Amino acid sequence: MAVSAVDIALWDLRARLEGLALFRALPSTHDHVPVYGSGGFTNYPLDRLAAQLAGWVEQGIERVKLKTSRDPDQDPRRLTAVRDAIGAVPELFTDANGGLRAKQALAWAHRFHDEWQVSWLEEPVSSADFTGLRTVREHGPPGLDVAAGEYGYVLRDFTNLLVPRAVDCLQADVTRCCGITGLLAVSGLAAGHCVDLSAHCAPAVSAHAFCAVPRRRHLEYFHDHVRIESLLFGGILTPRDGSLWPDPRRPGLGLEVRWADAERYRVYGQRR
Ligand SMILES: [Mg+2]
Repeated sequence: MAVSAVDIALWDLRARLEGLALFRALPSTHDHVPVYGSGGFTNYPLDRLAAQLAGWVEQGIERVKLKTSRDPDQDPRRLTAVRDAIGAVPELFTDANGGLRAKQALAWAHRFHDEWQVSWLEEPVSSADFTGLRTVREHGPPGLDVAAGEYGYVLRDFTNLLVPRAVDCLQADVTRCCGITGLLAVSGLAAGHCVDLSAHCAPAVSAHAFCAVPRRRHLEYFHDHVRIESLLFGGILTPRDGSLWPDPRRPGLGLEVRWADAERYRVYGQRR
């Protein structure tokens, strides 16, 4: 993750020195990245859960994700509340964060899809359980994509998921996978295995980086990261028509650190 931070900073610097927006300094094939609204924590009361996900749909984001499987018995009422709030059309995604065992996950995969029309099941089992992921992918409903990859740090972490066909859609986090340089390599691996790549979090960076991913599917517009980015940076992007569109007129990542607002979170060093 430290390598990723340095790599992203160097790409940002290079683009700034060239007077280009970062996505224009990369071998980009896109000028925007579709997003999905993500949050729906398991400790939210039902009304907050439903309002959060419906709020993204009202903003024109046609796909939303909630966390599941911490207490599986609670999930049916949570999913019903969300589906009732967002209506029949928006895509509904779930993220089990590796909370289930393979056969349990398989049973839930069918229920999620058949009863609430869930189309994306993320980390139904631990992302280190490649065989379990493949079991859910191969025996789950065809309309339900199994996804994992947010814990990929080095290329081998991604081939471990791709080679045994453990996922329908690969995920990658640009702040974990050795930055933009690492992400471009992961993009090639995904394309070589005929699998789409979805961005995990860090929307301000991912919006630029995933313009250079030919098979980019979408970007996780994650509640907590959106909140923290808007707390500390100027120039962050807000979704338009369900996508993030990096501003070609702003060099680099287009961000400025709001040092005065960041000062209260300082843990060491001199005050500026
Ligand atoms: Mg996840």
